[in-house]
Amino acid sequence: MKGKVYLVGAGPGDPELLTVKALRLIRSADVVLHDDLVAPEILKLIPSTAQLQNVGKRCGTKTMRQEEINFLMVTLAASGQEVVRLKSGDPLIFGRAGEEIDALRKGGIEYEIVPGVTSALGAAAAAGIPLTHRQVSSALVLTTGRLASDRDEVDWSRFAEGNSTLVVYMPGDNYGELSTKFRNSGFAEDTPCAIVSRATTPEQKIHRTTISSLHRAPPLAAPALLVVGAVVGFADGVTEYVNGQFSQTDAEPEPILARDLASVKVVNQGELSA
Ligand code: SAH
Repeated sequence: MKGKVYLVGAGPGDPELLTVKALRLIRSADVVLHDDLVAPEILKLIPSTAQLQNVGKRCGTKTMRQEEINFLMVTLAASGQEVVRLKSGDPLIFGRAGEEIDALRKGGIEYEIVPGVTSALGAAAAAGIPLTHRQVSSALVLTTGRLASDRDEVDWSRFAEGNSTLVVYMPGDNYGELSTKFRNSGFAEDTPCAIVSRATTPEQKIHRTTISSLHRAPPLAAPALLVVGAVVGFADGVTEYVNGQFSQTDAEPEPILARDLASVKVVNQGELSA
């Protein structure tokens, strides 16, 4: 009997952001093929009875080609194994799932896609950025700093107009170059932006700046995302980088007044179903 392949999203890092379904599948899989970016805390949840293999682009010294990963998935499933292909974030967002799905279809292998929390959402939640704040943003664009072909350039001017929020996956570490590209593409100098590094992990760092000062961003560890747009102005107490150190600027919380609560009635579940 043939096995099955589950393309599973592991979320941005925090194991508690795994879906219940992802957790169930990684606990029962025969084989887990995972990417580099899947957090170690998540890998620890995989029982030792499962065969675990890093097929990430940076695994060890050898680089596994996409065709090899596809071949591995197809042959393992064809031999009756239940395979979890574990990817960081969501498998369908900048995860090359398209090629894997194609290979599974061609190989006649049953598959199922299990969505995960994509890192843009993890980063926005971590930084308190309301991605589609209705006063300033009516569109959310998930894009990448790296195109499939290195020779192609991203046309940033498409996003300069209007009230869009831009989340740039794989921004690279040359923020000076990005800043110049944004300015040359018509973005306002004072457009707020934030770099969120290792979102939802214990090493998370957030640096908030503007397009004109982006080139002065401190070196932040990969993986990192860049969020661009007025919504960044609504972020939580900003973590700033001053004299080589991050500092938290805590605003005084506004008091909640009794009159604000006058119209709020708290009911318990019993009352609701009555
Ligand atoms: N499928 C993944 C994206 C894979 S592409 C997802 O849905 O999130 C890899 C890029 O994702 C990284 O270069 C980085 O830009 C982003 N990324 C992944 N995990 C991240 C994290 N914990 N914090 C910040 N960015 C992250």
